[in-house]
Amino acid sequence: MNIERTGFEKAAMITAENESFDVAIIGGGIHGAGVAQAAAAAGYRTLLIEREHWAAATSRASSKLIHGGLRYLESAQFRLVYHSLRERQRLFRNAPTLVEPVPFYIPIYKQTRRRPWQIRIGLSLYALLTGFARHARFRSVPRHEWGGLGGLLQNDLQAVFQYWDGQTDDAALTRAVVASAEKLGARCIEHCQFIGAQKSGDGFTLQLQLSGKIWKCTATTIVNATGPWVNDTLQRCTPAPTPRAISLVKGSHIVLPHSHLGGIFYLEAPRDSRVIFAMPWQGKTLIGTTETEVKNADSTPSEHEVSYLLETLHRYFPHLPYTPRDVIDRFAGVRVLPAGNERAFNRARESVIESFDNGSARIVTIYGGKLTTYRHTAELTLAQLKTTLPKRKPIADTKTLNLY
Ligand SMILES: Cc1cc2nc3c(=O)[nH]c(=O)nc-3n(C[C@H](O)[C@H](O)[C@H](O)COP(=O)(O)OP(=O)(O)OC[C@H]3O[C@@H](n4cnc5c(N)ncnc54)[C@H](O)[C@@H]3O)c2cc1C
Repeated sequence: MNIERTGFEKAAMITAENESFDVAIIGGGIHGAGVAQAAAAAGYRTLLIEREHWAAATSRASSKLIHGGLRYLESAQFRLVYHSLRERQRLFRNAPTLVEPVPFYIPIYKQTRRRPWQIRIGLSLYALLTGFARHARFRSVPRHEWGGLGGLLQNDLQAVFQYWDGQTDDAALTRAVVASAEKLGARCIEHCQFIGAQKSGDGFTLQLQLSGKIWKCTATTIVNATGPWVNDTLQRCTPAPTPRAISLVKGSHIVLPHSHLGGIFYLEAPRDSRVIFAMPWQGKTLIGTTETEVKNADSTPSEHEVSYLLETLHRYFPHLPYTPRDVIDRFAGVRVLPAGNERAFNRARESVIESFDNGSARIVTIYGGKLTTYRHTAELTLAQLKTTLPKRKPIADTKTLNLY
C-alpha cells in the first residue's frame, strides 16, 4: 500500500521516534535537494527541511539554463565551465525528460563588443572543455538562413553563431532530486522551518517549527543550504559560526505572450553590453536577466528592470513591439556572490563551501553556486562532512541516478 504522508505527519514521526540523523539539511532549493540525494545515496540517515515548498526561492527563479556558461570563459572561470559542462552532459543522460538540448544563437553586429573571432575562440574552447562530446558542435549560420531566425534584425549583422546548451524547468528539476532523495530513504519535509540549533554532545539539537508546533531532533552534522538567507541561518546556531562577507544580487526576468523564437538568443544589452537571454519557455518568451545589488533576499522586479529587458529585446527584434503592459509574468531571484567592488557580472559564480567545526559536530554552509552544478556541489559538501560522520554503506551513485 502506498501511503502519502503530509509534512505534519512526517514531522510527527520524527518526534514519535525521537529520531537522530547523521545529516540535517536546511533549505529545499536545488542545493539542499542535491545534498539530501548525495547523503542518502552514501547511506547516511538524512533529514531535509524547507520552510515553504520545494524550490520556493532562487531555484524557481533562475534563467532555466543547464549550461557550461560560455560567458564565464571571458572571466577565465575555466574550472567552473569544465564542471558545468560535465554536469550538463550527465543531466542530458540521467534526466532526459527534464533537461533538453536547445540551440543557442549569438548574433554579431558591427557595433557588438564581442567580435566574431572572439566568439569563435570561445566556442572552440567550450567544445574542447566538453571533450568534443555530443552537443559540442558549433557553426557559423550561413547568411541565407538568417531570415529564419525569428525576425532577428539584419541591419549591420555580420555573423551568427549557433551552438548547443540545455534548458530545464528549475522547480521541476528540484522536485525530481527531492523525490530521488526520498526514494533513497531521506526524510524530506516541506513547511518546516529551522528555528535554531544548539551544540549538544557529539552533535546538535535542532528546533524546527511545523504547523505552529516546535519539534526537536538531533543531528551529527548540519548543512546550511538556505541560499540568500545563509548568514541569517548561521546566526540561529549556537555557537554561531562567523559568516562570510557576501553580496546579494537580484536578477529579474519577464515573460511575454507567445513563443516567437526557435532557440535561445544571446543578446548584448545596448546599455551596458551585459549578456541577456531571450528564449522560448513553455509556449511563451522569457527574457532575462538583470543584476542589481540588493539589501535583502525578498525582492520583485522593478519597472526599471522591465524596461531594460524590453529595450534589449526591441534592439534585436524590432517587430516585437511589447510594452510593460504586455508582460504576463515577472520574477526575480537573488544570487549570493562574494562581497567585492567588481561588477557583479564579472564576479566568481562557483559555489563556496565553508565548514565550521565544533569538536565532533560540523556545520557546512553552501554559498552561491549554479543550478547546473548542484550534484557536484552536493558531493563536495558531503566530502567535507565525511570525516565527522560514522561509516555507512553507500547504496547508490548520484552520477548515474535517473531523475524523472
Ligand atoms: C536570476 C538568476 C538566474 C540564474 N540562472 C541560472 C541558470 O540559468 N543556470 C544555472 O545553472 N544557475 C542559475 N542561477 C543560479 C541558481 O539558480 C542558484 O545557484 C540556485 O538556484 C541556488 O539554490 P539554493 O538551493 O542554494 O538556494 P534557494 O533555491 O534560494 O533555496 C534556499 C531555500 O532555503 C529555504 N529557507 C531559508 N531559510 C529557511 C529556514 N529558516 N528554514 C527552512 N528553510 C529555509 C528557502 O525557503 C529556500 O527555498 C541563477 C541565479 C539567479 C539569481
